Amino acid sequence: MKSKWRCFSSFIVVCLLATCDAPQPSKGPDGMMLEGRTMGTFWRVSLAGVAPERRAALQKAVQQQLDNDDHELSTWKNDSVLSRFNQYRGSDPQPVSNNMADIVTLSLRIGQQTQGAMDITVGPLVNLWGFGPAKQPVKTPDVQQIAAARALTGLQHLQVINRAGQAYLQKDLPALYVDLSTVGEGFATDNLARLMEREGINNYLVSVGGAVLTHGENAQGNAWQVAIQKPTDKENAVQAIVDLQGHGISTSGSYRNYYELDGKRISHVIDPATGQSIQHKLVSVTVIATTALEADGWDTGLMVLGTERAKALALRNKLAVYLIYKQKERFESWMSPQFAAFLSPSSAH
Ligand code: FAD
Repeated sequence: MKSKWRCFSSFIVVCLLATCDAPQPSKGPDGMMLEGRTMGTFWRVSLAGVAPERRAALQKAVQQQLDNDDHELSTWKNDSVLSRFNQYRGSDPQPVSNNMADIVTLSLRIGQQTQGAMDITVGPLVNLWGFGPAKQPVKTPDVQQIAAARALTGLQHLQVINRAGQAYLQKDLPALYVDLSTVGEGFATDNLARLMEREGINNYLVSVGGAVLTHGENAQGNAWQVAIQKPTDKENAVQAIVDLQGHGISTSGSYRNYYELDGKRISHVIDPATGQSIQHKLVSVTVIATTALEADGWDTGLMVLGTERAKALALRNKLAVYLIYKQKERFESWMSPQFAAFLSPSSAH
């Protein structure tokens, strides 16, 4: 029962492509790159037209805000706001911030629209398969364990209440365990964009893990461009390049964050309908949307649905979606017409 972790970052390579050269950090006269760690992954902020003496204060402000977001949304910290809600064993409405209420409201909406494939109550299954703070299982969970964990999930058990200007989360299943790992990076990315706007900065690319949002131009006065990597272990193998035009982009993939157990590849994307890790050939879903949060919400749900159902849902909802899937020994790709509108003329696609 060999098992091994292979845990890489997500698919999107945040490139500051002024031309089609290899991605270079923007070191132009006004190019500034800040980076750090958060939420078990990396963050990066690329700015144009910002005075170098602002670097230290901006680095501190970004890290502080991400630490606050982490403290609110983490299931990896026992004392976070979300962990305290999960530990609460009652069914009274629990007061939460408007940010948390907005994230859960959007997640419940996308959960409905993906027929439950995107399900933020999937935490007990995520933990059972070892992708939460708990350790990786050394043997495949049995049918009873999966059924018991599935019985603790379901979007219908969670609701957002707004009363007299205060937001609340309420669960009717005391052991419900909400996992916002699939949308936390998208929210944090949008929140970084709001921080840049408050700082009077209009030309930025901000990213947390696999979520990115851009605004304005890079230090060379061109559109910020983002490359989608080929699903290979070779770093920076570019599949396509997009100009986000101020939108958010996020990728969910089964190719990077997985382990092998009893000869099967166990990925961190769980199908709530089966309680199992997804086993189909779709390896990566990239979504572009008005916010990184929305993009981050859709990517995992579409990943769970698999290639054909993801294509149908993308077309029905006019989503900007890019799929990479395995066909025999090759990788094939498919994009919706809405996604094609973002392709950069220099795209390698
Ligand atoms: P996505 O596909 O966007 O999300 C996959 C994740 O969503 C899975 O890891 C699982 O948690 C969950 N999920 C799986 N299936 C479903 C489904 N059907 N519906 C909904 N959700 C599903 N990781 C650490 O190792 N250490 C940390 O300290 C840590 N802290 C974190 C704090 C926060 C606030 C957040 C949001 C995440 C944190 N993580 C941490 C998790 C790490 O960032 C995740 O691996 C990452 O969020 C997964 O995002 P992704 O884009 O790679 O995958």
